[in-house]
Amino acid sequence: MSDTNDELQEVLHNIQQALIQQKEMFGETLYLDLEDEQSEEQLMPSRKKTTVAEEGPDLFGFVAPKTTPEQEHLPSYPSEPWVSAGSLAELDSMICDCVKCPLGQTRTKFVFGVGNANADIVMIGEAPGADEDAQGEPFVGRAGQLLNKILEAIHFKREDVYICNILKCRPPNNRDPEPVEIDTCEPYLWKQLELIKPKIIVCLGRIAAMTLLRTTESLNTMRGKIFTYRGIKVLVTYHPAALLRNPNWKKPTWEDVQFLRKIYDEMKEEENKGSS
Ligand code: URA
Repeated sequence: MSDTNDELQEVLHNIQQALIQQKEMFGETLYLDLEDEQSEEQLMPSRKKTTVAEEGPDLFGFVAPKTTPEQEHLPSYPSEPWVSAGSLAELDSMICDCVKCPLGQTRTKFVFGVGNANADIVMIGEAPGADEDAQGEPFVGRAGQLLNKILEAIHFKREDVYICNILKCRPPNNRDPEPVEIDTCEPYLWKQLELIKPKIIVCLGRIAAMTLLRTTESLNTMRGKIFTYRGIKVLVTYHPAALLRNPNWKKPTWEDVQFLRKIYDEMKEEENKGSS
């Protein structure tokens, strides 16, 4: 076969794969990329240049002047023994009986987090739901099944990434987390991130985005941008449970996860260049 034919076969194969992935993720609806009708601002985030990272407020709400990593302030952890944990397993064992907020009294299981302890990508949701509360693992219910499909569609397995929540215990009746619950639980997340050292954080939904980025901006305005938190890139997309309720958000989510894949691939390419 000629080179041109090979290239054509490859393009067709790639298109076929992309269509299969979209179908697996979202069913029969086909999302077209109508670039001609869109301004640069509206283009799929995965097509946007990713060289300019936006400086966001850090985890503690400060919009810090540009600093080197060494100059960045340290998190003000509470003076509690778990702060010295040297591994995720140790941290889990030290905090799993937490009753620092009332959710400790109503939970069935403490939902610490799951996945690759050295993951490049950490996916952060809101709080455990009923299934997660029963099983002690994040994203195992319907939203979790969809999250798995979303990850597969961009060629990641659930085990490749780390998955956790802002809150480790289920709020009764799946109500939104209270600010005091977030404030109490958030230091556990700082420690998880400190131990995992991910390169990219993906906020699943507005609660995760608002907590990490200390913003009240709408999720839609945060999508397609790269924020940073203490040197870790932060992306934002819709929560899988929201996608189950509102199919209109499937297309933007599909774009967001392709954006994630692109940033990840670019990052790996840079790493490989550096090591060769
Ligand atoms: N929703 C979340 O935010 N987290 C879970 O673990 C499950 C559902």
